[in-house]
Amino acid sequence: MKITPIEELFTVVNETATLIQEEMNCTYLEALAETGENLFQQSVIQGELSELTKKRLKKSYESIHLGKFSKEEIRKSFQLAILKGMKESVQPNHQMTPDTIGMLIGYLLKKFIKDNNYRLLDPAVGTGNLLTAAINQEPEKTVEGIGVEIDDLLIKLAYISANLQEHPIQFFNQDSLEPLFIEPVDAVISDLPVGYYPNDVRAADYDLKVDEGHTYAHHLFIEQSIRHVKPSGYLFFVIPNSLFESEQSKKLHEYLNKNVYIQGVIQLPLSMFKNKDAGKSILILQKKSDDIKPPKQVLLVNMPSLSNTGGVENIVTKIDHWIKENK
Ligand code: SAM
Repeated sequence: MKITPIEELFTVVNETATLIQEEMNCTYLEALAETGENLFQQSVIQGELSELTKKRLKKSYESIHLGKFSKEEIRKSFQLAILKGMKESVQPNHQMTPDTIGMLIGYLLKKFIKDNNYRLLDPAVGTGNLLTAAINQEPEKTVEGIGVEIDDLLIKLAYISANLQEHPIQFFNQDSLEPLFIEPVDAVISDLPVGYYPNDVRAADYDLKVDEGHTYAHHLFIEQSIRHVKPSGYLFFVIPNSLFESEQSKKLHEYLNKNVYIQGVIQLPLSMFKNKDAGKSILILQKKSDDIKPPKQVLLVNMPSLSNTGGVENIVTKIDHWIKENK
């Protein structure tokens, strides 16, 4: 049976990661980061491995030529391995953004952003899956990516995956709600971490800080992103469906009204999530500037399940029509 390029690359990545995991006695994800780095450097950089293991690893790496794989094949095989590693140690707020969302956000970037050269920030970049899936959809453009992530293992996986895909993305390993030392960007995409932000002192620096108790991190991420996008720049967030219904949402409404024009909300199919309460949407914003007007109408659509091809086509036509009318 003929195996696909993704299976071929995954097999090498998986076998070598397992070898490293066994010998270094680390987690699969840590071993994956090591094997990714080896693949990129085309050598075994871990001195502590036995000569026999080093030989076996080298042989596996030499059996594939990265140059023959497309960026998407590399991203997907690495993604499969990350998913395998994440099953071993599940952390709910670390979940990788699924491809369907990456595709949809990539499509929206293509439709909203006309420049051939632009700067794109993901302040919760995680494994980089969303950011690279989106960038890979516009191969004809030069997209300068910037990713920020607090978890050092996830950002390591993100930068290794970006290296293998040959994306010149700049990564910052820090809390995104601390000051960010980056030049203003043209657009932001992010699958926001949802929950309370425990650092009230830091939160005090934001208009969205609540008077009592902890502020929602996802609200602060929205404010921080708006601060760092240029006037007229676009922002695309994966948000919980309940964003505008929480007890902290009044402040968020006021803040958004003052600083951005809401462009649209695309509700993702509920079948993608474990239960109704976990449902998510994509919120599209444009930062205000003197040169732009609000849309005539906010784009409000419910994405059907992706297996419903007719339904998806209808929605895509609706989005295309909205863009023609408003952009
Ligand atoms: N889009 C990512 C991907 O494809 O892998 C997944 C994003 S995940 C839903 C949210 C991410 O936000 C997690 O990786 C988490 O570690 C990160 N995060 C949470 N709080 C953060 C903070 N204060 N600063 C930076 N990153 C944070």
